Amino acid sequence: MPVLKLSPYRRAWGRIRKNTLQRQAIAANAKQARAQRDLTPAEVQLLERIATAATRRFRFPKVLEDEFQNDVRSASRTARICITLITFILFASAPAWVPLTLGEPERMSGPMRWIELGVMTPFFAIVCLVQARYIAKGWSEWLLFAAFLLEVACIELIMYLADRIGYALEPLLSLLIPVSVMILARLRMVRCLLFVALYLLIVVLANVLWPNHLNVRSPTGWLLECLLLCIALLSAAWSKLSFRRQWAANLLLEMMAYRDSLTGLPNRRALEDHYHVLSQALTRGNKKQLIFALIDLDHFKLINDSYGHEYGDGVLVEVALALSEFARRPLDIAARVGGEEFAVILHDCDAASGRERLSRLLQVIRDLRIEHKGHEGGVVTCSIGATALGSRRNLHDAYRAADECLYRIKQSGRDNLELVSIGA
Ligand code: GH3
Ligand code: MG
Ligand code: MG
Repeated sequence: MPVLKLSPYRRAWGRIRKNTLQRQAIAANAKQARAQRDLTPAEVQLLERIATAATRRFRFPKVLEDEFQNDVRSASRTARICITLITFILFASAPAWVPLTLGEPERMSGPMRWIELGVMTPFFAIVCLVQARYIAKGWSEWLLFAAFLLEVACIELIMYLADRIGYALEPLLSLLIPVSVMILARLRMVRCLLFVALYLLIVVLANVLWPNHLNVRSPTGWLLECLLLCIALLSAAWSKLSFRRQWAANLLLEMMAYRDSLTGLPNRRALEDHYHVLSQALTRGNKKQLIFALIDLDHFKLINDSYGHEYGDGVLVEVALALSEFARRPLDIAARVGGEEFAVILHDCDAASGRERLSRLLQVIRDLRIEHKGHEGGVVTCSIGATALGSRRNLHDAYRAADECLYRIKQSGRDNLELVSIGA
């Protein structure tokens, strides 16, 4: 399998980010964008193994890992906001349910409860805001992390203060926060463990510093706390693992949908989507043209007949590599659109320079010097039918015009090119 390599897209897309229309078009083609990242065959294989749970390795190749983490976070955004709100409601209504669950009489004082709520509410508000608006930012995870730990520290401090003035609070309440954050904050696992460690450090320190206070945790309390933390950790790990598999499988499917499996080039669907993006981009620019070219290998059937199908496949792969080298400029694309038929779109290129570049392509294919005895010259050649067109023409028009040119070239002896302009 050839290297799946189309980095010019991504570079180019970075450059044109300012253009709103283009940005919208790119968003519409997000699936295609995913399918066109740089992935080596080994990386694709790793994705396959992760998707089928055939490996103990679960980390994606470097290019994908960050994107995966972002996807996890945005996919669970609504659920996380809901959990934050539910936690807050549980917290605020604790005076009603804590005595019921523990079977103890109400020990909490009204004023202390209000103080506790007053401290906690801004934290919950910040957490909701960050999750709703800034979750894709790199710093948001650390901010959540810090906010939750600060909340835990505040609760411990409030318990200490309550203790000093003789009020009792439920120590296990602080556990609600780490449990909720781990179940759905989707922190990376190492950070999850770090978070639990810091949480335990805070509560252990609180107990060591103020050993004889009223709100001390009982042994059952500690046990319950550790058990809940373990359950939360395991559930976070499991949900992330299964999402990882699903994500890998989806990515592979997307790649298959937009790639030709033999050559690794974009397929016709990818070409159509890309044309759509380009024509939208051109609409905004002034009088820019693009070149659409159909490239058909000459007497290819003879290659199969005289050298066998496998040799024919090898020829297609070699030509495909040459074409992807040829269409290296940002936003250019080379695709396989049929058996031995390829298409190239040259972005922002007029008829004159298009003709010049395509005749260089004819030479590039000849220079590959792929043996083809049944053909004059003894090497593989191609014929090119091309059209220069503006943004208002659709791909269908371009296809028809290029196909007519190609037909004429085939009639007049092959290994040549014809280019027509079909206007705006
Ligand atoms: P022309 O110069 O007029 O284009 O002649 P041609 O022989 O290239 O064109 P024709 O359309 O008659 O033959 C195309 C051949 O391409 C037929 C088919 O066997 C072969 N082909 C199509 N897809 C593949 C493929 O994936 N691998 C191989 N090895 N051959 C293929
Ligand atoms: Mg042919
Ligand atoms: Mg053909």
